[in-house]
Amino acid sequence: MAGKIPEILIKCEARRAFLALCSPATRRLHEPVSDPYAVCGHPNPAGLGDAGRFSQTGSWGQSSVLFPKLGTYRAADKCGRAPYGGAEYGVPLTPEADAVCRKMAALHKGHGAVICPSGLSAIATTIDAFSPQAVLIPDNVYGPMLRFLNRRRIKQIRYPAGVGAEEFHSLLVKARSEYSLRDELIVYIEAPGSGTFEIPDLDGIIAIAQHAKLRTIMDNTWASHVRFRPLEHGIDIVVQATTKYEGGYGDTPSGMVIAKHPQDLQRIADELRATGNGAVAPTTCSRLYHRIDSTEERLNQHADTAARLIEWFLQQPFVTGVLSPTLATSPYHERFTRYFSKGNGLFSVAFRPDLPAKHIEAFVDALNLFWVAESWGGHLSLVLPVHANREVTPLPEGYILRFHAGLEDYRDLVRDLQQAAEAALGEEG
Ligand SMILES: *Cc1c(COP(=O)(O)O)cnc(C)c1O
Repeated sequence: MAGKIPEILIKCEARRAFLALCSPATRRLHEPVSDPYAVCGHPNPAGLGDAGRFSQTGSWGQSSVLFPKLGTYRAADKCGRAPYGGAEYGVPLTPEADAVCRKMAALHKGHGAVICPSGLSAIATTIDAFSPQAVLIPDNVYGPMLRFLNRRRIKQIRYPAGVGAEEFHSLLVKARSEYSLRDELIVYIEAPGSGTFEIPDLDGIIAIAQHAKLRTIMDNTWASHVRFRPLEHGIDIVVQATTKYEGGYGDTPSGMVIAKHPQDLQRIADELRATGNGAVAPTTCSRLYHRIDSTEERLNQHADTAARLIEWFLQQPFVTGVLSPTLATSPYHERFTRYFSKGNGLFSVAFRPDLPAKHIEAFVDALNLFWVAESWGGHLSLVLPVHANREVTPLPEGYILRFHAGLEDYRDLVRDLQQAAEAALGEEG
């Protein structure tokens, strides 16, 4: 530890010096540069720029919800809802949560929605509500989903990332011979998938699942409600980590479930009430409530910046390819155009397999604007190695880094990539 702190402070100085030459848009997002140890690595220390100020809205919420008379309370307890909005007890559902659920359900044209304390808990709550014996999942599914299914001892039947209808159909027929009841087997979709962004034949899969009378759940975190609305394509239940693009500044840990059918929504709401897993801070809900409205604008900027960064990477001799369905050269580009039409801030870069890993890692460490961090969808640009757990779809060769383009001025980001490449990959470039 004693040896580490000076190095971090030197890095803070380097970031500050680099920022001094950046445009106001970029500086507003990054300044003041804090020692990450002092702020526990939080991207929005109180008072940080516009994003920080905007985050201070919202009530405190309360556990006790007060009723004027016993009869009012009895009626609320019976239906689980207070006459003022929210639940009869403030821990599982506040009026702020109620409001954001109504907004999201309307955007997705669902019957209703629930909010959970994380994207993963939204997934877990949904799966638990139906307690299937097996789930058909894509090979590029969000990693922690696998850990959850293992823990629940739910059988994972993997289908290839980017699967076509025919192959999916034969996998489903095989699974159906073992799990014949509707509640025993769930079809789970995530598109574009995590880390490598393959896209399956969505309409094909949905039609096959509907024909087999199976329930379909889609993780729509990549797209958000702006790029894709799964219920309109015949999906039964949408889950979304609103931690990501809807929140947009890394300060709304939450996940939402939007259901098309009232019976499905009821089962999910019952699961939340039984487990107490619906407790989400009202401050989080009110931030989310307002931020949802600017998702499209932010997503467009993330996408435009990602396109500039991809363009830069494709010109570098140390890169063998960029994984992004936005590229006309991607095998998933046709599906991308049909379903999503525009990208987001995410893309992955495959480095030349003969490059030593330590050079690529030195490149990452030489970056000033890109932070090493999990999650994505916020105002800051991020980078992280892709370590995918694949069974049926091989990864490209070589070191793979996933980037998230933040809301900075793209010219500053390109300059940062350029200086880090010169410092760490100079002899290869
Ligand atoms: C991040 C993510 C989640 C989980 O969200 P958390 O709020 O971090 O739990 C779920 N699905 C996908 C595709 C994600 O990227």
